[in-house]
Amino acid sequence: MTDVFRKSFTQQEPISEAAIARAAGIMRSGRLHRYNVAPGEIGAVAELEQTFAKWLGVPYALALASGGQALQIALRAAGVQPGDRVLTNGFTLAPVPGAIAAVGARPLLVETNENLVPDLADLEVKAASGSARVLMLSNMRGHLPDMEAVQAICARHGLLLMEDCAHTMGATWKGKQSGSFGIAGCFSTQTYKHMNSGEGGILTSDEPAFMARATVLSGSYMLYGRHGAGPAEKYFDDARYDMPNCSARMDALRAVLLLDQIASLPDRIERWNDRYHIVETGLSGVPGVTVLHRPNEENYVGSSFQFLVPKAWCAQNCTRFSDATAARGVEVKWFGAAEPKAFTSRYDSWRYAQPDPLPATDAVLARLFDMRLPLTFDLDDCRLISTIIVDEFVQENQRLSPAGDR
Ligand SMILES: *Cc1c(COP(=O)(O)O)cnc(C)c1O
Repeated sequence: MTDVFRKSFTQQEPISEAAIARAAGIMRSGRLHRYNVAPGEIGAVAELEQTFAKWLGVPYALALASGGQALQIALRAAGVQPGDRVLTNGFTLAPVPGAIAAVGARPLLVETNENLVPDLADLEVKAASGSARVLMLSNMRGHLPDMEAVQAICARHGLLLMEDCAHTMGATWKGKQSGSFGIAGCFSTQTYKHMNSGEGGILTSDEPAFMARATVLSGSYMLYGRHGAGPAEKYFDDARYDMPNCSARMDALRAVLLLDQIASLPDRIERWNDRYHIVETGLSGVPGVTVLHRPNEENYVGSSFQFLVPKAWCAQNCTRFSDATAARGVEVKWFGAAEPKAFTSRYDSWRYAQPDPLPATDAVLARLFDMRLPLTFDLDDCRLISTIIVDEFVQENQRLSPAGDR
């Protein structure tokens, strides 16, 4: 079989005509800045904050310039100081250790298991060491750990729980929204995430004093009263003097694009999961392929797909497999490569953070392949993609074992 897939793995759906019309109206008014509102006008950014907080089921939401800024501001608002350690996953994306480094702290990385969630035994040991006050849990590629167990570990060791929900916007654990389990939910609305405003982020919380500090940090000046889902005036008594202005606001254009997309999120989640299930079915049961286990408690958003190849595969097998699928138009990214590439990097390339070795995580990443499933793919596209992956996988696996039954 030599079918070739011809669509782009990085092409998103268009912005709706309704959102384009509303954005055009804002451009005609010239009032793009979130605080540049006419008397009595709420403003699109404040409206987004209200709508998002209500959607997540928390009292406070703060719209920001990026997901990375949401992480950074959350850490600072929680009082993380230069020199502190912050617990986080060994398998995550570079903006997470980047945000920790930006506040002068150093990540304390937790091992990742075969289901791509933190190893809770390792988390418990590292939490018990007392060197960190905060866990920045990164729900990398949309995989949620047992959230109640994570909350219990945090409670036992006095850790503040923050969630990086860049890949879990719309996901739930036992029906509770990802981002509502700890003091902070950090969301990204960058093009490749679940809502697309080019760049953008949203920080959520149910803790008013924390949110007041975050709001001033975001660059609110003394205009925090114009926010859509912010805490009462009294919580700003100290924050307004104690917190620096870090200028990370969202503008009205991005907010109108996002307002339009919140409404269609449930529909898009269903469409992502339809695509995910086709690929999952296609790869399940192929001898040697490990498809990740998704617990019943988790309602995920299948905007990307991961699988593991056999332990016996060496770097050469992995490279040849990923080159062969790429030659047929299917971009599966290998997390085991020695050098960081495109968006893919491993913890050991974050030298600034001086990471300690994570042997269990290394063993998982050496076998891990990952791909996006944008909504511009239809169901037949996903069938073709999984056929190509299985084809090339079987061929590569046969190089190891003539019987092909590893
Ligand atoms: C994209 C991403 C972020 C940061 O989001 P930006 O909006 O790009 O700053 C954080 N964590 C993870 C896991 C991400 O994928």
